[in-house]
Amino acid sequence: MDTIKVLIVGAGPSACYVVDALAKTDLPLSIDMIDRYPQPFGLLRTGVAPDHERIKSLDTYFGKILDQAPLKFYGNISFGSDITLDDVKDAYHAIFFCTGTESDNDVPGLDYSLSNVAGSRDVVEWYNGYTSQRTHFDPLSLGNNVGIIGMGNVALDIARIFLKEPVDLAKTEMPQSCIDIITQQHISDVHIFARRGPAQAKCTPLELAELLELDTIQTLLDPSSITLSDTDMVEYNETKRVQKNVDILKEVISTKSRSKRLHIHFCSQLKEAHVNDGAVNGVTMAKTILSGDPHQQQTTLTDESYHVPLTSLISSTGYKGAALPGIVFNEKTHCIPHEAGKITTQPKSSATYYCAGWIKRGPQGVIGTNKSGAKETVDSFVADVASFSSKSLQPFDLAKTLKQRNHTYYSYDDWKTQNDFEISEGEKKNKKRFKLTKITDIEHCLKTNS
Ligand code: NAP
Repeated sequence: MDTIKVLIVGAGPSACYVVDALAKTDLPLSIDMIDRYPQPFGLLRTGVAPDHERIKSLDTYFGKILDQAPLKFYGNISFGSDITLDDVKDAYHAIFFCTGTESDNDVPGLDYSLSNVAGSRDVVEWYNGYTSQRTHFDPLSLGNNVGIIGMGNVALDIARIFLKEPVDLAKTEMPQSCIDIITQQHISDVHIFARRGPAQAKCTPLELAELLELDTIQTLLDPSSITLSDTDMVEYNETKRVQKNVDILKEVISTKSRSKRLHIHFCSQLKEAHVNDGAVNGVTMAKTILSGDPHQQQTTLTDESYHVPLTSLISSTGYKGAALPGIVFNEKTHCIPHEAGKITTQPKSSATYYCAGWIKRGPQGVIGTNKSGAKETVDSFVADVASFSSKSLQPFDLAKTLKQRNHTYYSYDDWKTQNDFEISEGEKKNKKRFKLTKITDIEHCLKTNS
């Protein structure tokens, strides 16, 4: 069989699992992988909290997968601008989109152009050393009293990073410049606003316990807010995650007074963000009540409301995928419509198109969830392989095309050089890793270490 030419757009966890599943097919493959970041591993590097070192260390596992595959990596390449669908549609047998999510699920009525208002993506990329696409967020305007809307794991990550002691953050791969800013802000209070109750909190027990067990913080919540209704009790009895979350929350009611405080406000939805002098300085939250069947309870606003002064406000209300030029997209689910990973509406071309990861199923689940999803997608690819021999491809050399366009890209060898440098510099600084995220720093590292 002739070599099957594959392009993978994205180099995050789902893309790595696709490579793994492809390699296990034993088919003759040649894989090009592009990513808009200069380095591989996507969200693992730009999204996972820097103090989650066990999860971050999955880069070694993914590195081995990429090492062993017949693969060429091209970092710093955006699909749709640097390389277009027209460039590649007749140059590969199969194209996999593993582009994850691009932006935040914004909260209606919040003015994200203010420097002390941000979406979680802006914040998470910032504390990982990157600058998000949209951001007006200025971490210097966080102040000491931060509000976070949402109670998923990302909200907990942000709260934990803001409340952790700088000395503990310093050991992680978090850039020292970010730690210095957090230290300067003297964050003493973080408020988490969940629009539903404790039984509906989206976070997972491990992450909730990790935050509430920080020995520098006191958790404050109204005991009456964790009283469960009959419908909540059904959810509690039927779901281990709910049971554990609620039990963990019950335990914190009597924590000792400490210098940093985490306030958890349940059944609270944003009514108004108050702006003064171009900055949010507080919120009015409306109390909600829940109704509906177990596991499907939704909120209704009540007339009861309360005011909380804040120095900044972050929405952590989930992410959403973005449409890719030329690829049919569902604007409601923010995913690419597909059947078992094969894109439903195939663009007219020689290539057959697939998707995996969050662009396939939405932003749910942990990194490992991508493994079975990638396998399903690759199974669909394998089922199509026999048809590939009838497709005649146009000659195309990605490296040559990028060079002709004077577009700088970073190869997998470049990444290995950076990786070695980051780890050895990290050791010198007593950090897990000394991260390079700016192109100028990457160029300098490659010049001096290649
Ligand atoms: P998420 O789990 O979907 O949580 C989103 C939160 O925002 C929920 O509390 C949701 O409340 C709330 N929300 C949504 N729209 C809202 C609105 N308009 N107003 C007020 N609240 C609103 O999203 P995420 O935290 O971004 O996490 C994304 C995925 O990454 C999840 O699967 C998560 O588990 C995963 N993750 C895992 C880890 C880890 O394993 N350590 C760390 C980070 C992220 P409702 O429930 O009421 O909709």
